[in-house]
Parts: sequence; structure tokens; C-alpha cells
Amino acid sequence: MKVFKFGGASVSNAKSIINLSDILKKYNGSIIVVVSAMGKTTRQMEQIVDEYFTNRSFYESLNTLLNIHEKLIFELFKDEKSNIYTDFKLLTQSLQDKLRIKPSTNYDYEYDQIVAFGELFSTRIVEAYLCQRGFNSKWVDIRESIKTDSIYRDARINWSLSEKLIKENFVFQNHQILLTQGFIASNEKNRTTTLGIEGSDFSAAILAYALDATEMVVWKDVPGFYNSDPKLFTKLVKLNAVSFHEAVELAYYGAKIIHPKTIKPLQNKNIPLYVKSFKEPETSGTVISRSTENKCGLDPEVPIFITKNNQVLISIAPHDFSFIAEDNLSAIFALLAHYRVKVNLMQNSAISFSICVDNIKERIELLLEELKSNYKVLYNNELTLVTIRHYNQQTIDELTNDRKIFIQQKSRHTVRFVVK
Ligand code: ASP
Ligand code: MG
Repeated sequence: MKVFKFGGASVSNAKSIINLSDILKKYNGSIIVVVSAMGKTTRQMEQIVDEYFTNRSFYESLNTLLNIHEKLIFELFKDEKSNIYTDFKLLTQSLQDKLRIKPSTNYDYEYDQIVAFGELFSTRIVEAYLCQRGFNSKWVDIRESIKTDSIYRDARINWSLSEKLIKENFVFQNHQILLTQGFIASNEKNRTTTLGIEGSDFSAAILAYALDATEMVVWKDVPGFYNSDPKLFTKLVKLNAVSFHEAVELAYYGAKIIHPKTIKPLQNKNIPLYVKSFKEPETSGTVISRSTENKCGLDPEVPIFITKNNQVLISIAPHDFSFIAEDNLSAIFALLAHYRVKVNLMQNSAISFSICVDNIKERIELLLEELKSNYKVLYNNELTLVTIRHYNQQTIDELTNDRKIFIQQKSRHTVRFVVK
């Protein structure tokens, strides 16, 4: 059994959904298909959440979003009696019912309850289309299987319970395809939770893990894993094979190809992950697996560039010139954990400790406020964190010439810079 994940770009319009079903036609065995929200739906949903939460009118944003989905349904389903018309109507009604109630004070909770409709819409539409094309497929609500804690927008998986429920609920019987949602899950009260931005790769990996899939495939708009972001650099090299270890490092440093949490469950069960293009499904893509080398077909030590924008560098120092020692560090880390601020890079000196973190405004503001009550705090924002794996001097020069360097860290395989 294989697990396929189709992201937002692969279900953004009628043509792409037809293309998705063409890809599935080429496979005979059992497949679990995990689908994200269509195109830019999640971002539009976020706009609706903001408006709803701050008591502004959300009707315009909501109508725009619903119109896009309705137009797509008209294009794909000529038969007005198709079930999708009633299924979609029921879903929009329950979204509208939700939006009629006054919001609670918990933004993250409201976010998850609303944004999840993006995945519910897309999976209903894609599944109905597969049925129309003659597939033996079934729609499955992932929230009955993936169970999490109640940290809304960044929920952690209850692995033992999820594994048990996935095994019970994802049974093929006479179906070839079980189609479900990425990104969303639910807690013990059956409230919807989400796994973090771009979390549907992770959802697919959880299913692959629990069901011992033979492989997982992420279908993307790029034909595999490149040594840098195609949007940033021109000299690109495609990597044909990447080890689990390298992939987890790259994803951690910010390579956008795959959600960082995706690798662990696959590595633990030695399930290979293929990154393939839905535009050129015949091409081989990249395989991430237990192999020890990274092969690009040219040179195994090809330098890999990763950039993370919108970084803040925070420097923290005790007021009284005392050392940054274990007690200070553990207090600082407790605050970071409390505000769920992930450290991308850190460095210390005798009396100061610096961290580079994503600028997630709501969290950073609260963190800074609290840090300032005990420490002298300086910060710089709008910085970029650049990582080069398998660097050489020439690649370092290329990336840092004419840029102000705030921090540089070098290890045997990796060099990292915080630059303006
Ligand atoms: N739709 C969600 C997002 O855009 C999850 C995903 O696409 O992976 O973040
Ligand atoms: Mg998406």
C-alpha cells in the first residue's frame, strides 16, 4: 500500500484535479490519498479568521472563497444530481453556523475550527470527482483517526491512540482508494486541531507509519529536491537520492521541500519517500531513503543552499554583568518553550546569549516583553538565515559578499550565517 500526498497547488483548479486523477489511473494497488486545501485557500481562510475574531465583516472574503469552490464544482460535475452539490452545501452551512456564533477569546482555537474547512472542501470535491471517473474510492474523516493534544495550531500527536485508530479506520475492503485530509486532526474532546503550516506532509507520514506503507509520494509542482530554492538561485542541481539524515537536516534548516516532522516516522519504519512532479509524473523525482549518500548524478558533495527569511536575532544579557550560565539558560529556554518559539540558531558569549528565531509577531512580542523584565534585550529583525551544506570558500563568498554578517557558524559539513 502506498500513501500519496497532493498539496494545494496540485488541486488548485479543475484541470489540476483532472490531472491528479490521471496520475492515479496509472496505479493499480491500494492507495491512501492525502489532500491539502485547494490553492491559496488556507491563506484566504486565515483572512476570514482574522476578520471574524476581530468582529469585522468577513462576508466578502467568505463569498470569494465559496465562489471559487462553487465554480470548480460546476466545471467538474455536469450532473446536477451529483452528491457533491449537497455535500458541499452541508459543509458551507456548518461553516456559516460556526461564523454566526461569537468567537471565544482563544484565537488559535478559532483558527483551527475555521481553517480546517479548506481541507474538508477540497477532499469532498476530489473524492466525488474520483467517483465520477469510476474509481472505487472512499472519503475518510482523518479527525477520527489522528488524535492530538489541545495545543491548537501546533498540536502534538498521541501516537499510540492514533496508530490504533488509523488501523481500525483505514481498511480498504473493496475500495482501491481511501481519500482523506492532510493538516487537520482532533483532540480528546473531538475538537478540530491542526498540525502547523504545511502540515499535510506530516499527516501522510503518520498514515504511512501506522499502516506500514511500502512508500510515500509527495506530488509537487517541482520535479524533486534541488540544491537550492528554484525561485532564488539560477544554478540548480537536482538531487536524485537523499538520505533520511540529510533530508531531516535540510528540512530543519528551512528547505521548503518537505515539512520537517515528516522524516522521522518514515525513517523509523524505513519507508522511502519520493518527491515527484505532478506536472511531469513520468520523471523520476527524488527519493529520500536509508541510503548513506546523496546522489545528484554529478557530484555527491554538491553544495546545498537554504535560506530562511523574516528572522529576528535576539541578544539576551543579564543586567548585572553576571555570566550567562546554566540557570539563566534554563530560565530562557523555559520561556521559549512556553511561547512555542523555535530556535533556528543560537550562540553565547560570557555575558550574552543570542538566538535567531522566526518572526511570528504575536509570540515574539510576548516573549520579548517577558525577557525584558529580567534581562537586557537587544534585537534586529528582517534578517535572513543562510545555511550551506557541503560548503566551500567560493560558495560562502557568493552568498555573503556585500552583506552585513551578524553571526557566522561553521562546522565540518555546514556553515550558517545570519545576514541583513
Ligand atoms: N493547507 C495547509 C497549509 O497551507 C496544510 C498544507 O497545505 O500542508 O498550511
Ligand atoms: Mg497548502
